[in-house]
Amino acid sequence: MADLAELVDQIAKDMATTPERGRVADYIPELAKVSPAHFGLVAITADGQEVAAGDADLPFSIQSVSKLFALVEALGRNADAVWARVGREPSGSAFNSIVQLEAEGGRPRNPFINAGAIAVTDLVAAGDDPRAGVGAILRLVRRLAGDDGISVDGAVAYSEAATGHRNAALAHFMKAHGVITGSVDATLSTYFHQCAIAMSCRQLARAGRFLMHGGIDPASGEAIVSPERARRINALMLTCGHYDASGEFAFRVGLPAKSGVGGGILAIAPGRACIAVWSPGLSAQGNSLLGTAALERLAGAMGWNVFNPDG
Ligand code: GLU
Repeated sequence: MADLAELVDQIAKDMATTPERGRVADYIPELAKVSPAHFGLVAITADGQEVAAGDADLPFSIQSVSKLFALVEALGRNADAVWARVGREPSGSAFNSIVQLEAEGGRPRNPFINAGAIAVTDLVAAGDDPRAGVGAILRLVRRLAGDDGISVDGAVAYSEAATGHRNAALAHFMKAHGVITGSVDATLSTYFHQCAIAMSCRQLARAGRFLMHGGIDPASGEAIVSPERARRINALMLTCGHYDASGEFAFRVGLPAKSGVGGGILAIAPGRACIAVWSPGLSAQGNSLLGTAALERLAGAMGWNVFNPDG
């Protein structure tokens, strides 16, 4: 098997000089300011080895990776009642699709497309002051990463709120169908702020460790979720974590993972490793182009794949 530190280093070097880097998201104006030249990678193994390369400590906008943490928080508060609002099927549609939501009576396909995430966030916001909902999600990621310095990038949150008309349309449509029960404005504000949480690859990889350990945070020994819930969250990440490229990602990488339009991806090799990668240029489906390529190479070389008999 390849030496992990050498491999991570080599991948970061190769990615730094790759000319085709995808397109940085520009529909959220603040994200368009980020240079596509960045690349960061951190892998943490089950035995606690932490290997980093590139821009591993530079915070970026985690965007939809936050949907994972919002789901953990909502499941903690509401358990299986979450599934009355949102399904567990891959959407096969764009992350912000409106047409599928209308065709299916306002019930989003899964918690990782925008509509589903907004419905999940509504359970966390639950009529609260939006600051309380965001505060709960932020507390969770700080605890998981063991880092109280993690915060919301106010400029990104403002930029998304000012331009988030599609998300507002999805939220109002779900409100009309009773899928959102709280105030649409409070739910959207919570959602925009959770998406604007800024984290580095190192912080993100640490925050994902509980999912490689059956729900146990290795730093504290605490059960963040039950083993069954960890398995199910990983199943959703594998089948729905990359929007309409989830099948392609499973085919190429073979690991549960969640992407965000900030260019971050958090991937889990259960029992083996937790990996965070960041490269801001995106594919047409809104997933990090080089982040996916890096994970394909790293997971392939290490034999980390949920379909490997020993992966
Ligand atoms: N905040 C983004 C949006 O709602 C999240 C999308 C993503 O990261 O894929 O449009």
